[in-house]
Amino acid sequence: MNGGADRAPVLMMVHAHPDDESSLTGGTLARYGAAGVRTILVTCTDGGQGDDESRDGSTAHDRQRVAARRSSELRVAAEILGVDELIMLGYPDSGDGASLSASVAAEVFSRRAIDPLIQQLAHIIGTCRPDVIVTYPPNGLSGHPDHIRTHDIVAAAHEKIILDAELTDDVDPKRTRQNPRLFYAVVSSTRMSDLHRVARAAHPGEVIWVPPTEMAVDDDAVTAAVDVSRFWPQKLRALAAHASQSDAAGLLNLLARADISAASRVEEYIQVHPPPLSTVASDLFAARTEK
Ligand SMILES: [Zn+2]
Repeated sequence: MNGGADRAPVLMMVHAHPDDESSLTGGTLARYGAAGVRTILVTCTDGGQGDDESRDGSTAHDRQRVAARRSSELRVAAEILGVDELIMLGYPDSGDGASLSASVAAEVFSRRAIDPLIQQLAHIIGTCRPDVIVTYPPNGLSGHPDHIRTHDIVAAAHEKIILDAELTDDVDPKRTRQNPRLFYAVVSSTRMSDLHRVARAAHPGEVIWVPPTEMAVDDDAVTAAVDVSRFWPQKLRALAAHASQSDAAGLLNLLARADISAASRVEEYIQVHPPPLSTVASDLFAARTEK
């Protein structure tokens, strides 16, 4: 790791909803936090379109109540994962778009004007100075519009940082600050099959949420596989903190099973910037020193 002598290396994860940080990258956050890396979690939406626990068929879905509940759950999960700084942007969750009133629909994260979002994230990146940034691939890893929007603003903000840095380099060629690395969190075909195998065995004939098979990437596309087996209990506890959400609870049930193979207790990434080495790294910071 190389964050400079004056400060700890910084890892920033940018996610769409409360619970994505735990289900997709919880082990990585816990592992790097324990290793002395400063970890920053940015969560873009308030999760207000998630499950409404007190919904009983007679009351309407209460966005505010759900958002408040999910913010508290996110704080607990971040604490469990040892996150140093939690930044909740609080934009209205887009949900599936079906139940939104017209006034809310225009304000949701995936439909509001994108430029101010890019500016805001570029400002956060400029202030926090991460060495490594993690977000979703262009398909959002789930196809959800908020995930796709998260990818879009992170990719654009990262590009802006690089362009601004190039301009600065013209003025000060001795600039020593490195541009942040950019990774996408992904699931390989092998890991996805393992998850689906366990899901079928655990819940025969039932429909429970697992990441859709078509979102998996070829095993060969993965450029970093972070072993999170030591931090598996923390990942599970963080997922459990999102108790109001049935998807998180379903995934927790699966990941807690003994027949999840040891090889699946990794979190996988594709390095986007700079172009990666040909070998698969086990550390998101390692390639910096290998190059
Ligand atoms: Zn999500």
